Amino acid sequence: MLKGKTAIVTGGSRGIGAAICKMFAQNGANIALLYAGNTQKAEETKAELLQMGVKAEAYQCNVADAQQVATICKQIVKDFGGVDILVNNAGITKDKLVPMMKVPDFDSVVDTNLKGAFYMIKQVYPVMMKQRSGKIINISSVSGLMGNPGQANYSASKAGLVGLTKSIAKELAGRGVCCNAIAPGFIATDMTENLSENNQLKDFIPMKKFGTPQDVAKLALFLASDQSDYITGEVIRIDGGLAM
Ligand code: NAP
Repeated sequence: MLKGKTAIVTGGSRGIGAAICKMFAQNGANIALLYAGNTQKAEETKAELLQMGVKAEAYQCNVADAQQVATICKQIVKDFGGVDILVNNAGITKDKLVPMMKVPDFDSVVDTNLKGAFYMIKQVYPVMMKQRSGKIINISSVSGLMGNPGQANYSASKAGLVGLTKSIAKELAGRGVCCNAIAPGFIATDMTENLSENNQLKDFIPMKKFGTPQDVAKLALFLASDQSDYITGEVIRIDGGLAM
């Protein structure tokens, strides 16, 4: 489905991002994955991708740092000869009720989750515009659609991604580039590790279970492939019915 395409996946070393990298690689894509600090995990994921017979490289890059993003993206385009797919998946939480939420807690979550996506898009935009094709996928969250107590920073960043997605979709629609967002509900990863045994929480989910990173990866594959060529500016929930 993605044979010979190059995909950049931020936060591709673990969790949802790693599942997306593997799904894309299984479908023939070459993968440039970005990670923040856990080099061992990034190298493990890279090794798994290489075993699938595709080109793969792991780049340590803080997406909240515009200068680092510019340098690494230029390096990736050089190393891979271009970029066809960008998945803005890197994300963090710093949950607290507003009275306890310090300004740096708000800033760092917005800097990583929202501004990081903007910095990445800024780099791939001219490349995709010039080649008149490309797929940009932003990983938002149902928190950004519904709001969530204790997540003012996270919800704001994820709602911001929805607006970013629609603006980019409109800017690039005439250039053959699609930009869509995925809004997951509870997905079993390190991020939700301390929630996974919470049965009360599962009761709120119509399907009564957390999703898997692979569930999200299947949707990302659809949005990255030519199966979705007439879809842009869309936000697709994948949440077992949580936010209906
Ligand atoms: P995760 O398991 O905590 O993995 C986070 C990934 O992002 C890691 O690869 C990490 O790299 C990377 N990362 C964090 N900060 C970064 C930065 N500043 N620069 C570059 N990379 C950075 O997270 P996840 O659960 O897979 O979540 C992935 C995305 O889905 C996030 O955007 C999250 O908000 C969203 N989401 C998750 C859920 C859920 O239930 N899990 C629900 C809705 C939305 P290191 O390993 O080097 O730290």
